[in-house]
Amino acid sequence: MARVYNFSAGPSMLPESVLKKAADEMLDYEGSGQSVMEMSHRSKTFDKMIKVAESLLSEIMYISDNYKVLFLQGGGSTQFAMVALNLMNKNNKADYIITGQWAKKAFKEASRYGDVKAVASSEDKTFTYIPKTDKSTFREDADYVYICLNNTIYGTVYHELPDTGDIPLVADISSNILSEPIDVSKFGLLFAGAQKNMAGAGLTVAIVREDLIGNAMDITPTMLDYKTQADADSLYNTPPCYSIYIAKLVYEWIKNEVGGLDKMKELNEKKAKLLYDFLDSSKLFKGTVVPEDRSLMNVPFVTGDADMDAKFVKEATEAGFVNLKGHRTVGGMRASIYNAMPYEGVEKLVEFMKKFEADNK
Ligand SMILES: *Cc1c(COP(=O)(O)O)cnc(C)c1O
Repeated sequence: MARVYNFSAGPSMLPESVLKKAADEMLDYEGSGQSVMEMSHRSKTFDKMIKVAESLLSEIMYISDNYKVLFLQGGGSTQFAMVALNLMNKNNKADYIITGQWAKKAFKEASRYGDVKAVASSEDKTFTYIPKTDKSTFREDADYVYICLNNTIYGTVYHELPDTGDIPLVADISSNILSEPIDVSKFGLLFAGAQKNMAGAGLTVAIVREDLIGNAMDITPTMLDYKTQADADSLYNTPPCYSIYIAKLVYEWIKNEVGGLDKMKELNEKKAKLLYDFLDSSKLFKGTVVPEDRSLMNVPFVTGDADMDAKFVKEATEAGFVNLKGHRTVGGMRASIYNAMPYEGVEKLVEFMKKFEADNK
């Protein structure tokens, strides 16, 4: 069967050249006579591989030396607890901006460990915008401020970061890591599950400013202490070896084939513009997010009629555009157009939508 255009919010498409390289190296990774899946994580070959992966990520994201790059497990969701256990350590207080389900889940999890306050929210309008904040929004003695930078379900993104002054800013970047340059120095901690824009599921990357490591609460499980992982260079126990390997191939793809994150951003903007321009001109379909907060990665849209939405999703699936059904809390459709979605995929989707609109007048 021909490959489909997969618009899933995650796990999602990977670049074809990455999949082909992985297939080529499946039986024999760099002359080791084995697959990375079978290899000891204590072997020289693996050690070299994980170090290359880490340095490539640091290079393409311009991560400076005072940050630790950690390859972890447990998904973005485990970070909800890990962030709180490790960082809510001075005044036992943290401020959260609620921009969707993921931020809400992180907030709930952190509430188990301290005085956590939802300082702003966009729930009043089904999370279709990013709430405005300023320095006075945040408690001066908060240990950190938490945001979800790109809201996968609702399709919003921060184009401008909240001003938190000296309070460390923590961000979930699960669905927009590597989609455009991020100024890492503006954050105390960033984390992302790999399965949206980086690799298969199983790997979670955390980028943690060094001064925030080493003060976890006493109750913190050993595995959830960033210090355990930082001291062991992400090899305290068996890491998600194969996902790290795929991530390395994706980093190489971004560096060598795409040409870095500025270029990646350009490509992503071009793709997103095509779809948003169509949505803005269509009489049948419309985007759900206010234009100024629109995500480059996740594009929710509706027809306003649930039966028409279902008809569209069904016909699109038959035509090879899969996983366009919106999240159950939003309804309608959502096209996730991560890094690996080719321009041509969006172009063909828009053509299909135009035809569907003409046929359903
Ligand atoms: C998918 C997603 C998560 C959850 O990730 P898991 O790895 O499944 O735990 C968290 N945050 C955001 C923004 C996501 O898109």
